[in-house]
Amino acid sequence: MEEGKKKKGGKKIVPRKYPMPEQTPAERVRNFDEVPYGYDEATAALEAKRCLQCKKPTCVEGCPVGIDIPKFIYEIAQGNLEQSIRIMKSQNALPAVCGRVCPQETQCEAVCVLAKKHEPVAIGRLERFIADWERRQGVEAPKMEAAPGAKAAVIGGGPAGLTCAGDLARLGHEVTIFEALHVPGGVLVYGIPEFRLPKEIVAAEIDYIRTLGVEIRKNMVIGKVLTLEELFADGFRAVFIGTGAGLPMFMNIPGEQLNGIYSANEYLTRINLMRAYRFPEWDTPIRVGRRVAVLGAGNVAMDAARCSLRLPGVEEVTIVYRRTEAEMPAREEEIEHARQEGVRFELLRAPVRYTGDERGNVKAMEVIKNELGEPDASGRRRPVPIEGSEYTVEVDTVVVAIGQRPSPLVPRTTPGLKTTRWGTVETDEATGRTSLEGVFAGGDVSTGAATVISAMGAGKKAAASIHDYLLYKAGK
Ligand code: FAD
Ligand code: SF4
Repeated sequence: MEEGKKKKGGKKIVPRKYPMPEQTPAERVRNFDEVPYGYDEATAALEAKRCLQCKKPTCVEGCPVGIDIPKFIYEIAQGNLEQSIRIMKSQNALPAVCGRVCPQETQCEAVCVLAKKHEPVAIGRLERFIADWERRQGVEAPKMEAAPGAKAAVIGGGPAGLTCAGDLARLGHEVTIFEALHVPGGVLVYGIPEFRLPKEIVAAEIDYIRTLGVEIRKNMVIGKVLTLEELFADGFRAVFIGTGAGLPMFMNIPGEQLNGIYSANEYLTRINLMRAYRFPEWDTPIRVGRRVAVLGAGNVAMDAARCSLRLPGVEEVTIVYRRTEAEMPAREEEIEHARQEGVRFELLRAPVRYTGDERGNVKAMEVIKNELGEPDASGRRRPVPIEGSEYTVEVDTVVVAIGQRPSPLVPRTTPGLKTTRWGTVETDEATGRTSLEGVFAGGDVSTGAATVISAMGAGKKAAASIHDYLLYKAGK
């Protein structure tokens, strides 16, 4: 740790975050265990003491769910851990998840006052610490408001739906989540791998939502098993749509239908939710081979690449991305972990076609080189193919991780529910209202693929509007 220097008022600034111990790259590429171990109590207290307890805490403005960051950190510094988790949970029902996967570096930590000259306070690590501390102690059952008793339905049990449901239940409503899969959690269980977010941690946070009184009905694909109209007919007064953006996008290039070319969604679902990495102990197999190419450079691509490295028989994993490192959308930490573990990066490249063997399995990928042109609508410089630069690489598996969009099932079966040309549900950002009375939406289904904390923020805002709606507009 670097030497601290005195600041006005006698407070010593420790310029760097206290490191969080983690498995070495050589160890972790052979297992699916969580990579970082987390802070112990003494280190957490030291890190908490780095916080300046600003009078105008900019970090809170950077948090989509408005956690009172200086307060929860202050209590850790004082050793009042119970008080700290209480403060945290009053705004965030999934802190162990957020502490692990939220992009703090672009949110609260990006605007931490310390970050102007030094490293910011490790807000994410402290959030994770306090949530893990509580889980080890046993989670306290929350106190509930008197119930006004209105029935609300939440479609989808991902971060948006869980947060909306939890907040509505706290406000005393009778909430049921309808989840399509056999496990709630959304991307937290089917997408993000065990080594980044252990599933028992997600399960514990979902159990907490249940203790708030939320009922979770699984294997309920809304739009197939029941429609929104039937939910209203069943006595639900308001509906929140939090169905995410789980429909994979493809490049539509020749050969994309060959065996061994997966959408990231299917690939990660097989590995994480269906535990293909433990085949034959678990009964879902996955065919990978020696060389894996992952297309894209977001968190999804990093997860697919890092999972691939850990699968038996895989020797080489390459990220193929059409722009440069500066434009990669993944979290810095994910890119760094992928590099440390041995993932190769082929930048300014894009596949143009695949060829297969006589059994229909992919065996090669033709790739073209790009250069960067003018910025496009996203503000990032557009990749421009360099004519004649094509070359061929051998591959056994390709994982397409170039984006997802919302499934059209609910809009298609809900007359009057307006969507945008990207297939997202038209939603008022401040309230979560949609084009239909009593129907609210939020998370990836409204914004397109985004982040856990933005989905939670949207779930929170929608819960507040649904509460108003149930009390003042729809009656009880
Ligand atoms: P989801 O998490 O997608 O949940 C939607 C839920 O709705 C699912 O459970 C689905 O089964 C259910 N559902 C869908 N249709 C129906 C239906 N018709 N009826 C009933 N239920 C339905 N974000 C980060 O902040 N940090 C990360 O590190 C990060 N890593 C990611 C890694 C991967 C592999 C992926 C795919 C995403 C990642 N994200 C990350 C993005 C983040 O996970 C999402 O933005 C977030 O989960 C969106 O939450 P949501 O509740 O809107 O949707
Ligand atoms: Fe602490 Fe940084 Fe927030 Fe200031 S901005 S209160 S230093 S975490």
